[in-house]
Amino acid sequence: MDEKRKSINRERLTETFLRLVSIDSPSFGERRMADELKGELEKLGFLTEEDEAGSFYGGNAGNVYGFRRGSLPGGALLFAAHMDTVEPAKGKRAVVHGDGRITSDGTTVLGADCMSGTAALLEALLELKEEGSPCRDLEIVFFTGEEKHLKGSAVFDFSKIKAKESFILDLTGPVGTAAYRAPTLVDFRIEVRGRAAHAGFAPEKGIHAVAIAARAAASMELGHVGEGMTVNIGGIKGGGTTTNIVPEYCSLIGEVRSYSHEQALKQTERIGELFQKEAAKAGGSSCMTFEVPVHAYCTPKDHSCVRRFCRACGQLGLSGKLVKTFGGSDQSNLSLHGINGLVLASAMEQVHSCQEYTEVTELLKLTELLKLMMQDME
Ligand SMILES: [Zn+2]
Repeated sequence: MDEKRKSINRERLTETFLRLVSIDSPSFGERRMADELKGELEKLGFLTEEDEAGSFYGGNAGNVYGFRRGSLPGGALLFAAHMDTVEPAKGKRAVVHGDGRITSDGTTVLGADCMSGTAALLEALLELKEEGSPCRDLEIVFFTGEEKHLKGSAVFDFSKIKAKESFILDLTGPVGTAAYRAPTLVDFRIEVRGRAAHAGFAPEKGIHAVAIAARAAASMELGHVGEGMTVNIGGIKGGGTTTNIVPEYCSLIGEVRSYSHEQALKQTERIGELFQKEAAKAGGSSCMTFEVPVHAYCTPKDHSCVRRFCRACGQLGLSGKLVKTFGGSDQSNLSLHGINGLVLASAMEQVHSCQEYTEVTELLKLTELLKLMMQDME
C-alpha cells in the first residue's frame, strides 16, 4: 500500500473510532450501537440478524450476528466484540492528542473497550473489500451486555455458528498479544440469620448476626489463595437501623476466581461451610447462594486458532505472545459451546477508568493483523 493510501486509511480508522465512541452504549442500552454496527456490516455485504438477548434483561438491543461468504477455502472464522461500555460513559468526548493517543475528556471512560477492536475490525473489512482481496467465510458477532458478566453471550444461540475458532477483540496489552486462558468466576451471596433482642435489657436473648458474619469473614483467606485462585468479599450489609437492637440479619457478597472450574466451586463450598459453622456455634444460621457467570477455558497452544494468530503476528513482526488473563470475556461462553479461541489485545489501555486510552498506531497494527488472519488459508 502506498503512503498516501495508508494515511487515508489512518484517517478513516480514526474517524470510525471517534464516531463509535460518540454513541452512548451502556449495558442493555446498546440500541443505537446495534443499529450502527448492523448497518456497517450490511454495507460490507454481510447478512445480519439480531437476537432477543435484550428482552431477557430489559435491554433495548440483542446480539448482532453477521455472516458473509468468502472466496477462500477453509471454513468460517469468527470475530467478535461487545457493544456495551462501563459507566461513566454517557456523553463521551474523545480527545485526539498530537502523539496519536486518544483519550476521553477525563469525565467519562473513552469506550476503547470495546470500540477500538470494533473500529479496527470494520477497517480491516473495508480495506479487504477495496483491495478486492479474497478472504475466508466470516462470522462477526457484536455482543450485548458483556460488561454485566457476559449476559448477552450467555443467551446467544451458538448452534448457528459455523466457525470452529474465534477471535475476541477484548484485551489490554500491546497488539500481537492474546489470552488463551481465563478463570471461572463464582459470585456468591451469604445471608446470616440470628435473633433480634433489646441490646440493653436482654442482649443475652439475641443472636448477633453481624458478629457471626464478622468472625467468619475474618477467618477467611482473602486475596491470592493458592495457585491461580483469588477470593474476595465485596460487601457486607447488615444489622438493623438502630443502635439498641441486637441485629438479626447480615448479608455478604463476594467472588471466587480460579483457572480451575472445579477448584472455584470447591472453594465456594468451603466458604459456605465456614459461615455455617460460625453461625451454628452462636445458635444462628447461614445460607449461601451463588452464580457462575464465567466458566474457565484453556485453548490448547497447538490449536489452529493459535497457529493462525502466530503466523499473522510473525508476518507483521509482532510478538505473538500468549498470556493468561484473570478477567472475563465472551470467549468463556464460546468455549463452553465448543468453539476454541483467543482474546486478542485490541488497542485499549487502562480500561474501566476515565484514564482509558487507545493509540492510532496500535489500531493500525490491529487492522493489519485482522486482515492477515481473515486471509489465512491454513
Ligand atoms: Zn471489554
